[in-house]
Amino acid sequence: MIGIDIGRVIISGDTDIPNQFFSEDYLSVSPVTQAFMAIQQIVETYTPQNVHLVSKCGEQTQQRTLQWLTHHQFFEKTGVIPTQVWFCRERHEKRSICEAQNIRTFIDDRFTVLQHLLELDQLFLFRPSEEELEAFENANSPDKVRLVDGWEALLKKLT
Ligand SMILES: [Mg+2]
Repeated sequence: MIGIDIGRVIISGDTDIPNQFFSEDYLSVSPVTQAFMAIQQIVETYTPQNVHLVSKCGEQTQQRTLQWLTHHQFFEKTGVIPTQVWFCRERHEKRSICEAQNIRTFIDDRFTVLQHLLELDQLFLFRPSEEELEAFENANSPDKVRLVDGWEALLKKLT
């Protein structure tokens, strides 16, 4: 099972920080480059049943995220199953979602999320902010976490 974060991994805005995805114009926020194409490939390779989205955000951003995914025809274009989208309110809660769904691979732009998932098999730190990169380096860059600069690089490393 593969788990994919949403903010700054699928949607180019940061859905974790209210202000960035908060404006009335949120539906026009663009997808992360190649995200739909790459996720469609992942779904094809691993089957739809094995692909989950996992996002930490507030209630309003949760609703907006679902509207954004629908508006951009994310489910039709990628084959991700709409009922396999999970939300939590705290970063560390992604861990219990991974456990419940038997997710063993996770893709996130935050090391401060991945640090809670170090018992999984494969972790990808996806185009982190400077702050998140620093957190990764300060934690002695655990071997299990691989840094990728975008979806193309990730597809090459994903097994
Ligand atoms: Mg994110």
